[in-house]
Amino acid sequence: MQTKSMPQPDEALQILLEGNNRFVSGDNHYPNHSPERRRAVAGGQSPIAAILSCSDSRVPPETIFDQGIGDLFVIRVAGNIIGVHSLGSIEYAVMHLKTPLVMVMAHSCCGAVGAVANKVPLEGHMASFVPAVQAAIENCNDEAGDLVDNAARIVARMVATQIATSEPIIADYVKAGRVKVVTAYYDLVSGEVTLL
Ligand SMILES: [Zn+2]
Repeated sequence: MQTKSMPQPDEALQILLEGNNRFVSGDNHYPNHSPERRRAVAGGQSPIAAILSCSDSRVPPETIFDQGIGDLFVIRVAGNIIGVHSLGSIEYAVMHLKTPLVMVMAHSCCGAVGAVANKVPLEGHMASFVPAVQAAIENCNDEAGDLVDNAARIVARMVATQIATSEPIIADYVKAGRVKVVTAYYDLVSGEVTLL
């Protein structure tokens, strides 16, 4: 069950960017945090965006975009890489919640990307981060600037492409213009989100 009419993909993106502007200037409105809102969405959600971001404690999407309860469908995993569970979660948002926008958000100084870039041995299941990040690093060796931050941007772009072309569900929604997949980069210091 949906609780309101959905914005178009570009309108949803505009809402996020305006919220980020408030966050950057220290003017968060903290919308949709009230007990009334909590009760209003208990029976159904209509998040305007699905956001895949890093688990990093400094990168909370609701705060960064000044959104509240029921506004964002968030998937967080170290390095904002994609796997089957994350992809299935995004499919659920797109197909069943009619979420019009999917955002993959990388960030500066990402520890997961940095560990792979600096060849830090990753124990246990952390080793599963390596292939996706390594592929990005191999694609940015000639770029000027910080290797880790460049690689983080490329991880986000590669993941966004994987999502946008994912068969059988999301690719069809993208082709029909019902969903837009965008890539963004969050700066830990300025708080600014830049579209890539
Ligand atoms: Zn990170």
